[in-house]
Amino acid sequence: MSFPAPTVNNRADSTEPRVPSPQEKYGSLPSNAAMTIEVEDWFHDDLLSRAVEPGSWDTLELRVDRAADRMLTQMAHHGAASTCFILGWCAEKKPALVKRIAAAGHEIACHGYGHLPVSVLKPHEFKRDAERAKKLLEDLTGMPVRGYRAPAFSITDWAIDVLQSLGFEYDSSTFARPARIHNANLRGLSDGAPVVQLRKGFHEIGVSCGSFLGRCTPWSGGYLRLSPYLFFRAGVKKTLRAAGPFVFAIRSWETDHGQPRVAGLKRSHAFRHYVNLARGERGFNNLLRDFNWTTLGDLLARSKPDGPPTQSPSAA
Ligand SMILES: [Zn+2]
Repeated sequence: MSFPAPTVNNRADSTEPRVPSPQEKYGSLPSNAAMTIEVEDWFHDDLLSRAVEPGSWDTLELRVDRAADRMLTQMAHHGAASTCFILGWCAEKKPALVKRIAAAGHEIACHGYGHLPVSVLKPHEFKRDAERAKKLLEDLTGMPVRGYRAPAFSITDWAIDVLQSLGFEYDSSTFARPARIHNANLRGLSDGAPVVQLRKGFHEIGVSCGSFLGRCTPWSGGYLRLSPYLFFRAGVKKTLRAAGPFVFAIRSWETDHGQPRVAGLKRSHAFRHYVNLARGERGFNNLLRDFNWTTLGDLLARSKPDGPPTQSPSAA
């Protein structure tokens, strides 16, 4: 099995200005912790989708750039690299933001265009949505987009075939362990293995899980906001020390505590969307401080498809 080149954002034969790899840019040691950010606006959360129709998005306050820019500043301060799964709709509205993310050395990846779950799309509709977003991002950055994350973690087997036909090399729309919130439906995953080769030349990279009140749950932005930070950090360290790697997922609006409040949501949905948004930004900053972060592309390049990564965990 051959692996992609370790410089995830670079096209070897390109005449475009070369973007340094995370290690070149930040001089940090190889990390077993990957930071992933879904760059989308506050109204793109699927929990709000019944109250906020896509047809109304153009009338709403756009805040994705201010939230993402604060995250970029914090990551630069701590020398962290990330993979940014950018929603095509946002890339179209805020092209300069996409360029700033790429220029800062982060991996540009794709979150589709219209934020519709794969389960409501036919294959040709899914292909059109993913292709449109990929092309937008590649045209803006001049770099190949290799990674995809489905809205609401809703990936399914036929969608992997479509992604591979479009030139994607990995998907990150599942959790590394069976979790309570799990919309994906993929064959070939092995419980607990965060990096799995699904097809020749195509990998699945699962978001890490931890134990919360005795239940396996995604150890991502929602639980970062919900749980005490030291408890959350202990869960990250446990994963890194036990098996690694650790893959963290957060949505950019989870750090935007000034976002508008939508009325009429189900109480449980309102709780999950709005709980402790101020703690989200603080927790994100603390994670940047406490661990070395890299991109999924970098992690994949240094990982064996069905075994542990070759380097030591990097827990603080
Ligand atoms: Zn999303």
